[in-house]
Parts: sequence; structure tokens; C-alpha cells
Amino acid sequence: MEYMPQMPDHHRHHSPHVPVPGPGCEKLTWEPLGPGGMKARVRDYTCDCQPTYYELCQSGGQHFIRRTRRIGDEVVVDECARGRHTKTIVIWGKLLAAMVA
Ligand SMILES: [Zn+2]
Repeated sequence: MEYMPQMPDHHRHHSPHVPVPGPGCEKLTWEPLGPGGMKARVRDYTCDCQPTYYELCQSGGQHFIRRTRRIGDEVVVDECARGRHTKTIVIWGKLLAAMVA
């Protein structure tokens, strides 16, 4: 599948696109999916038309950010910022603003 970032697509609704973070941005620690990782409830998400997209997830009392990357034919999923909602939502906001990556 070819990825064409400049291709206009007026036939679908797009969720937020995460801008490409600058070189000085804070690096998050991405880890393999933890407990409930794939079954979590998705609270918010970025557009999946992008090769990398993010989901704000909740599983029980735990919140975390799930990242899905399409690398060639592979789909790689990992997570970060697991913990309380207040902590995860702050990092989610920074992620959408490309302040962290
Ligand atoms: Zn999109």
C-alpha cells in the first residue's frame, strides 16, 4: 500500500493528525502492550489514515496511550503513559501538539 501524505481525501472524515515532532521534543518511553492492552476502551484517537496513529485507552482503572505503526507489511503496537487519567491525559495533549513523541 502506497502512502501519499499530500493526497486530498474529501470522502471521509478525518480525526486529528499528529504533526511531525521537532528534533528537540521530549521522548516518551514506549513499551509492549500491558494488561488489557488490546481490549481497552478507546476514549480518543488520532486519524488512522496516517502510518502511525494513537489511541487514548482505558482498561479498568488504568489509562494509557496506544500507538499503532504500520512498518512495511507489519503492524507494531505499543503503549506509554499508563496510569491515572490525569497523568495520561496531559501526555495525550502533548502528543497531539507534537511536544512529545
Ligand atoms: Zn486522516
